[in-house]
Amino acid sequence: MSYPKSVTFNQARKIISEAIAESLPLEQLPLQSALGRVLAEDMLAAMDVPAWDCSRFDGYAVDADALRLAGAVGLPVCETIHAGDDATHLDDSAQAHPIMTGAMMPQGMNAVIMKEHANVSANGQLKTEQKVEKGLGVRRQAEDMSVGKKVLGQGRRLRPEDLGLLASVGVGQVSVHKKPQVVILVTGDELIQPGKPCQPGQIYDANSFIVKDLLKQMGCDVLGIKFIKDCPDEVSKAMTTLKNKQVDLVISIGGVSMGDKDFIPQCLAEHGQVMFHKTSIKPGYPLLFGQLGQAWYFGLPGNPVSTFTTICQFVWYAIRKMQGVKDIHNLNWRGKITHDVNKSHYRREFMRGYYVQSFDGSIEVTVCGSQQSSRIQSLVEANCFVVIDESQQDIKSGELVRIQPFHQFNHLASI
Ligand code: AMP
Ligand code: MG
Repeated sequence: MSYPKSVTFNQARKIISEAIAESLPLEQLPLQSALGRVLAEDMLAAMDVPAWDCSRFDGYAVDADALRLAGAVGLPVCETIHAGDDATHLDDSAQAHPIMTGAMMPQGMNAVIMKEHANVSANGQLKTEQKVEKGLGVRRQAEDMSVGKKVLGQGRRLRPEDLGLLASVGVGQVSVHKKPQVVILVTGDELIQPGKPCQPGQIYDANSFIVKDLLKQMGCDVLGIKFIKDCPDEVSKAMTTLKNKQVDLVISIGGVSMGDKDFIPQCLAEHGQVMFHKTSIKPGYPLLFGQLGQAWYFGLPGNPVSTFTTICQFVWYAIRKMQGVKDIHNLNWRGKITHDVNKSHYRREFMRGYYVQSFDGSIEVTVCGSQQSSRIQSLVEANCFVVIDESQQDIKSGELVRIQPFHQFNHLASI
């Protein structure tokens, strides 16, 4: 079977990007359920906000000219207008109305005197020392948003404040892309579940925890996790079942390298299509990408740090394409490295680092201990990747390096 082997990072991303040309189908959701989902269309305001002139604060609504003409006598204070009252019937500009924050301005009135600046005499006449110009204390109709204006654009991942903005213009439901439906295949004869005693030769399955919750954090529904032995029949059976299922993404863990029992690439080639195998990164070199039935398929290497890195660098990218996110690029910052770094290969390396930001905004970053791809501790200690590009070799302490903060791999934190 012929397919691209050992592609560069950029080639791998390009293959994924071109393959996933279309994002997932749409569904209508009530605002209550739309947090973190991606808008499938531009949202235009169907109304002005505010829809009518209203008061900025608690005070007295007046006509500025009438107040000036009233001079020392002041204006008689009459009916109070509360937020929620319909004030369209009030149109006697020779009066003053107590008015609350956000309440509708009466017809013909054009200024609000703050309660703190108002002086109401015993016989109910309003006066003030303040110079009252037209417009004082009034939130004008459409000041925040005008009818027909774009509220939010297609491809926007919805944050709590976005939902508030949509609600404020009366939108009750939105058209968004469906959530990717994912199945995880965990391979490895050596794996057992935590909580059970570990026999010689066995190790605890750590990856299914990392992968399941990372995928959820990336906005996917995890439909199931299937554990399979390193045996071609079991892998084939699992792939045959999956290729006839309604699944958008299959993630397998382990079995993609050069070992005697690494059957995943060969089985995917038989049951689906391999689009590339191996990419020149460290860790995560044996990564596999392709298609199985209607699902996109990622075969991740089994060492936990490789698994984590390939999810963040490639699966996250694919998920955002599926979700219809407009700007799918990673967040890249710069930080000063606090020590020398040795790199003697030409792959792109994703070290695990811990960055701190000073009060002046400058960032310093330190690589977290041993960078073995089996060492989960390096992920736990880290809050970012330190990305050393293909062409970069040794780096001296104090040089600027590229970092990618981990928080971006949480879809609710990565706008
Ligand atoms: P593989 O990619 O299957 O060759 O696995 C590479 C290394 O990662 C081996 O040492 C495996 O035992 C280990 N490994 C594979 N899967 C897991 C897992 N789910 N949890 C923890 N370690 C794993
Ligand atoms: Mg294995």
